Amino acid sequence: MGPRPFRYERATSVADVIDCLRRGGANARVLAGGQSLVPLMNLRLVEPELLVDINDLPLAHLRRENDAMVLGALVRHQTLEESEEVRALCPLLSEAAGLVGNVRVRALGTLGGSLAHADPAAELPMVSLALDAQLVTEGPTGSRTLRSEEFFRGYLTTALEPAELLTEVRVAVRQPREGWAVEEFALRQGDFAVVAAAARVQLNDEGRVDVVRLALAGVGPTPVRAQGAEDQLVGAPANPRRVEAASRRAAADIQPESDVHASAAYRRHLTYVLARRALTRALARAEEATP
Ligand SMILES: Cc1cc2nc3c(=O)[nH]c(=O)nc-3n(C[C@H](O)[C@H](O)[C@H](O)COP(=O)(O)OP(=O)(O)OC[C@H]3O[C@@H](n4cnc5c(N)ncnc54)[C@H](O)[C@@H]3O)c2cc1C
Repeated sequence: MGPRPFRYERATSVADVIDCLRRGGANARVLAGGQSLVPLMNLRLVEPELLVDINDLPLAHLRRENDAMVLGALVRHQTLEESEEVRALCPLLSEAAGLVGNVRVRALGTLGGSLAHADPAAELPMVSLALDAQLVTEGPTGSRTLRSEEFFRGYLTTALEPAELLTEVRVAVRQPREGWAVEEFALRQGDFAVVAAAARVQLNDEGRVDVVRLALAGVGPTPVRAQGAEDQLVGAPANPRRVEAASRRAAADIQPESDVHASAAYRRHLTYVLARRALTRALARAEEATP
C-alpha cells in the first residue's frame, strides 16, 4: 500500500505555513522529518489531502540565551545527539536523542516533529517533561508559550490548535551539581522503548536534593512526570534506600495498560527498574560534577 494522493506545498515562512494550514483545514498536515507521518500515510492510517513542508523555514537554530538553550523545531535528532553545545549545555537531550530509532531516523527526524507527534513511548517528549521545557507555538491568533506538562493531552494528542505550528523549544541549561540519565528497555535495538525513564537531579551545597525530575514513557497515553517519586527525594540527602523507595513509588503511581509488547505488570516492573537506574546514574553524575 502507499499513501492516498495528496497535494504538496513547500512553505517559505511561518506565516506561509499558517496560511496553508488554514486553507487546508482538518485535511492539512505539516511535514517535518516525515519519520512518523510518512509511515502512517503509507499505511493509510493518516490520509491528509495537503502536506505543508516546513523544511525551508529557518527553524534549525540552536543558541544559548542567558540560562536557556533555545532550539528550533527543525533541529534534527542527530544534531541533538552530536552537537558539542547541546552535549555540554543540555546533555539529557543528547543522551535521549541518541536512543531514537536508527541513524536514518535520527538524520531526518526533528525535535518539533517528535513533540508534535507525541508518541507516549518516545524519548524526546519524556525528556521535555524532565527538563521543564517551554514550547513556543505560532498560529492564526499569534504566539503562545506552553509548559511541556500542559502540551501533552492524550494519545498522539497535544495542545496544538488547528493551523498552529510548534516553532521553538526552550530548556534551562545544565546547572552546577546537576546530573542526568535516560534509561530504556526496547525489545530490539532501534525499536521504540517499551518503557523509558529520564532523571534530572540537582544537589545543593550540603549534598541534599534541591531539584529532581523523573519522567516516564511507555506507561500511559502520554509521557508522565513521576511526582510522587520526586517528592520522596527532594530536600533530603539521596542514598540507595531513598532511590529504591522513590522508584517503587514511581511504579506504584502509574496506570499502565497491557498490549502486544508487554503486560501492565511487566511495564510496572520495568518502571521500577529503569527509574532506579536513571536516578542512580543521575545522582552519581551530580555528585561528580564540580560546583
Ligand atoms: C524505523 C523508525 C523507528 C523510530 N524509532 C523511534 C524511537 O525509538 N523513538 C522515537 O521517539 N521516535 C522514533 N521514531 C519516530 C521519529 O523519532 C520521528 O522523527 C519523530 O517522531 C517525528 O519527527 P519528524 O520530524 O519525522 O515528524 P513528521 O513525521 O514530519 O511529523 C510528525 C507529526 O508531527 C507534526 N509536526 C511535525 N513538525 C511539526 C511542527 N513543527 N509543528 C506542528 N506539527 C508538527 C506533523 O504534522 C505530524 O502530524 C521512529 C521512526 C521510524 C521510521
